[in-house]
Amino acid sequence: MSSSDKLPKLDQLICLAGKRAIVTGGATGIGKSITYRLAEAGAAVLIADIDSTNAEHTAKEFSASGYNVSCVACDISNNDSITNMVATAANTLGGIDILVNNAGIYPRKLLSEMTSADFEQVVSVNLTGLFNCSRLISRHMIEQKQGGCIINIGSIDSFHPSHKGLSAYDASKGGVEMLTKSLALELGQYGIRVNTIAPGGILTESMMSTVKGVPTKEGMAQLKAFMSRTALGRMGSADDVGRVALFLASELSNYVTGTTVVVDGGYLIS
Ligand code: NAD
Repeated sequence: MSSSDKLPKLDQLICLAGKRAIVTGGATGIGKSITYRLAEAGAAVLIADIDSTNAEHTAKEFSASGYNVSCVACDISNNDSITNMVATAANTLGGIDILVNNAGIYPRKLLSEMTSADFEQVVSVNLTGLFNCSRLISRHMIEQKQGGCIINIGSIDSFHPSHKGLSAYDASKGGVEMLTKSLALELGQYGIRVNTIAPGGILTESMMSTVKGVPTKEGMAQLKAFMSRTALGRMGSADDVGRVALFLASELSNYVTGTTVVVDGGYLIS
């Protein structure tokens, strides 16, 4: 074991100065918190989001606080849009070291009401979109010959369905879990680490709007039931996920690949 004076200092390990990151869906919710933590650690972050108005708003908000955050409109379910986003990242950031595949949708629809197109729409964003971003950006990382880091946002639903009406979502997130392991196996030789964060119930605006009617009685009952299964007794915040993303993006986790960090306050163990 090396003596402690030979080990890198903690502030060096967590520092992302000089790193260039893309956060898909970084305009709001969990992606916004991840953007903040990476930028705070010194990375230049490009938000790639289908909602360009929100993305511009977030980029301006963080830039005004002195962070290096920019944005590009991108629909990750469209390959031309991803190609354009990667070109923008290469031009404006000068390269790509970190990709956070966060963009995702979770509409609720029971199987009896769901069409094939509904199913495909969810998969095209949550799984195929994530795959295509990883495919194009890992090529870029390989050409740079400086390694890299890919963080996929899965879900506790990768392991266990949390609610009825999420079959398309759960299938897509199950796919993310396995895709992470396969990509890690293939990309390790280039020094590219690939990991998943599997959040539990995280209070974002989108999450609240899918729990229909919150703060009505029914919506509150759903949230209460969810929380009562959570060991820590509370819902998560977007920053609970942002902090773990920073760990996975930094040298603190430089021997971690092909695995999943569950950030669910202890929901899955109950
Ligand atoms: P959110 O709706 O607040 O944010 C998602 C962002 O992705 C939005 O800015 C949206 O515009 C963007 N987006 C949607 N479709 C896109 C597309 N096709 N191309 C590019 N951008 C697109 O959602 P959130 O609650 O912050 O969730 C973020 C991620 O975390 C998702 O992958 C979600 O499945 C996952 N997750 C969330 C929770 C939770 O409780 N909130 C739990 C588990 C997993």
